[in-house]
Amino acid sequence: MTEWDKEKLVSLVRKQGLSLSQNKLHHFSQWLGSLDPEQKISQASVIKAIKKFKSPSNLALRLLEDKLVVPRFTRFSQDIQEIFELTQQIEGGAVANYIPQLQRMSTDAFAVSICTIDGQQIHLGDSDQYFCVQSSCKPINYGLVLEEHGEELVHQHVGHEPSGSMFNELSLNDKCIPHNPMINSGAIMCCSLMKPHLSMADRFDYVMDTWKALCGEHKVGFNNPVYLSERQSSDRNFAIAYFMREKGAFPPGVNLKNVLEFYFQCCSIEVTAPLMSIVAATLANSGTCPLTDRAIFGPGTIKDTLSLMYSCGMYNFSGEFAFKVGLPAKSGVSGVIMIVVPGIMGICLWSPPLDTTGNSYKGLHFIRSLVDSYNLHTYDTIVSTEQTKKDIRSKK
Ligand code: GLU
Repeated sequence: MTEWDKEKLVSLVRKQGLSLSQNKLHHFSQWLGSLDPEQKISQASVIKAIKKFKSPSNLALRLLEDKLVVPRFTRFSQDIQEIFELTQQIEGGAVANYIPQLQRMSTDAFAVSICTIDGQQIHLGDSDQYFCVQSSCKPINYGLVLEEHGEELVHQHVGHEPSGSMFNELSLNDKCIPHNPMINSGAIMCCSLMKPHLSMADRFDYVMDTWKALCGEHKVGFNNPVYLSERQSSDRNFAIAYFMREKGAFPPGVNLKNVLEFYFQCCSIEVTAPLMSIVAATLANSGTCPLTDRAIFGPGTIKDTLSLMYSCGMYNFSGEFAFKVGLPAKSGVSGVIMIVVPGIMGICLWSPPLDTTGNSYKGLHFIRSLVDSYNLHTYDTIVSTEQTKKDIRSKK
């Protein structure tokens, strides 16, 4: 029978990637504070104490009963560290150069952050650096308009198919609407659908509040120079928007200039890798933030969003990414890749140099190595991977 003392319990929290400052461990942390350092306490007594907390903290109970979603977190962290170090050594790709603010990003910057649906976290590399979310705002905006209008109305204005063309191609599908919400035309369309009766300021507040909630109530940033640059080099996006207006793709009453400015503002929201991993973990947790238990999106919205991230989220590499990695993801030209492992965890990879498909060079290398060693591919469950891959849910 396990015997605990204060020090052992504190170290258990750390080993499992949790922190006593986490909201959901508040009562547990207070209770630990009341323990005498010399006091020995049985497993049964710890569990009895946890069950008495006024708002019983499930997380502390899951921790003590060894029920966390990634039970062998130390082993997993060591493997992540190893892949991180190997990936850091590889070189390749080039930073985006269509605006000076992206062109000036450090080619060496590299961050990996993971947050599980129990809030277990790993942060490696440049985890305090902010970067703009760029195209990774697209699934969030899509989720917001799904919540606002429902799937049927939204998909009268945007399709479900991969386009097979560049993300900023001047093309529409055979119904004269954007192919999907993960490319520029579809993202501009989602912006036009979002809270159309609000002022520009309130609409942006609404998006910023959503990001804050997705990040576990941490404040997110906004990069004004990126926004101004995006606006200045916006001919292609304006061309796409005019083309869509000519074809009658927009809902009635749309002000194109406002919609495009709103889209550029969304692309210019800034986060760090740890924050983005919490966003991804919220998607992995059916739309409820694992750090605050706040429901931001409904499960139906998440199902639709992840489906389109899976088929269309990685530019013209989406098919191969789905084939080889097998996870819903969205990348952006700032070098971010947000990856969702449904029911398990969210991952954020950030490294600015991009490969020829526009995806982070190091980011792709990292996730391929991870999926080579862990059974995370959506269809890994179909084949027997016991001999070749580690099981992330295993307690052994
Ligand atoms: N702001 C970029 C554009 O509209 C988005 C690029 C991206 O991350 O795909 O061109």
